Amino acid sequence: MPVWLFVLFAAAAAEAARLPPARYDLVIAGGRLVDGTGKPAFRADVAIKDGRIAAIGNMLRSQAARVIDARDLVVAPGFVDVHTHADDLADHPAAENFVRMGVTTVIAGNCGGSALDVADALARIRDAGPAINYATLIGHNTVRRAVMGNANRFATLAELARMKSLVWRAMADGAVGFSTGLQYVPGTYAHQPEIIELARVAANAGGVYASHMRNEGTELEQAVAETIRVGESAGARVQISHLKVDSPRRWGASAKALALIDAARAKGIDVEADQYAYTAASSSLGIRFPAWVLEGGQAQIAERLNDPGIWLKIKKEMMDLLADRGLTDLSFAVVALYAADPMLNGLSMKDVAKRLEPDDGADAQLEAARAMMLTGGASMVYHFMSDEDVTRIMRHPQVAIASDSSVLSFGDGMPHPRGYGNNARVLGVYVRARHVIGLEDAIRKMTGLPAEHFRLANRGLIKVGYAADVVVFDPVHVSDAATFDKPHAYAEGIPYVLVNGEPVVDAGRQTNARPGQVIAKSLMERK
Ligand SMILES: [Zn+2]
Repeated sequence: MPVWLFVLFAAAAAEAARLPPARYDLVIAGGRLVDGTGKPAFRADVAIKDGRIAAIGNMLRSQAARVIDARDLVVAPGFVDVHTHADDLADHPAAENFVRMGVTTVIAGNCGGSALDVADALARIRDAGPAINYATLIGHNTVRRAVMGNANRFATLAELARMKSLVWRAMADGAVGFSTGLQYVPGTYAHQPEIIELARVAANAGGVYASHMRNEGTELEQAVAETIRVGESAGARVQISHLKVDSPRRWGASAKALALIDAARAKGIDVEADQYAYTAASSSLGIRFPAWVLEGGQAQIAERLNDPGIWLKIKKEMMDLLADRGLTDLSFAVVALYAADPMLNGLSMKDVAKRLEPDDGADAQLEAARAMMLTGGASMVYHFMSDEDVTRIMRHPQVAIASDSSVLSFGDGMPHPRGYGNNARVLGVYVRARHVIGLEDAIRKMTGLPAEHFRLANRGLIKVGYAADVVVFDPVHVSDAATFDKPHAYAEGIPYVLVNGEPVVDAGRQTNARPGQVIAKSLMERK
């Protein structure tokens, strides 16, 4: 090296050493900021320091260790997905399907199903080092099963007391509320007083009451009324999970359900709801069978299904249940994941019947469903909603956007595409293409609204002092790539996702960063 070059380098190094350390770790510069409150977008830089939003303003880029140029992009709070089944996050800590659609916080333990030992579950997730933040509800079905198995009866006072103590312990260990799944065994066997008593325990600890209601179609209004009554009696904030109308004969009934929510809110009951932006649901195959068939364990279920007389009665009830909904067979049902024979994944029950039975009529479809239940059941996708209801529900200001998804393994089975695409679909289809809701409102429904209702302090908004959970997306190109036929496809048009200030998606690629935190506030903090 010539001496003059060495001198030049030395001078540059000395100059660099004299510079003060960067004031901010990262600045997202020049983007359109949609802050999660619903107020109109405005142009601003967002500065991040030590995992928090440190400043919002202009000309911050010169003081940053790193700058992300967000020109032509929208900068929003990371999406808060309050209705998930990400209970196994410890086993899949990268949570790619959530991360890639901009979700930075998930709430698990929904639909009545959660870990029983919340302290242990949270510790396992903390140890695994997740990419996203995690909180959980305590599930009614979990608690009831621990105390009384799958018994089809009301709880005794002693059993109720044990369930209450389990809910209390979960809340003390950091659960953010109590969930029910009243269409599932064993929660479906519970009557209202039991649910009120348990929800009150959670409410007294500051928790929300989230319910997968007893019915989502034929008796939708009664179910919404029951959910509101539980919230009112228990003194709990209420979250109606995955609000929908799941019966063609009842399409349009969302207007009545939303009117009940409005009436309750006018009375001071804090009721909100969430939804995913698809006209198909996903659930177990068992949910198509009468609840009494599912009492006990697999051995008892098999006993009933294998008794020709009982099976005839079951089939008749199943056909009646379908008729009530305005359906004539199971062709609306598609196999998502059938462990006993993965070749059936992706087939409608009509096609399954074609494979397994002499014909593909309604009776043959029920026979095929029976055969699948005998080998452990399956996870299904159900096409039975109308877009008119999805749209009407989305326009309601108190409805959040939530996926209802679990953590997915890329390529595994034929899951509902919502787990890869829900948020991106709302932004691409319902905001950009169809103008069902505005951009600021859509972001509010994905961030500020649910974070506030679930009392996730310091998250859900772009605000100084808040955790730096941030998503940066291209409003022109953001879209869901996952379809029912090809569900394993990541959302597009979301180049940056930050969790607690660290990029987990950087220039469109997921990083190895695992900055997610477990959200388990103490009871003292919550009151
Ligand atoms: Zn559910």
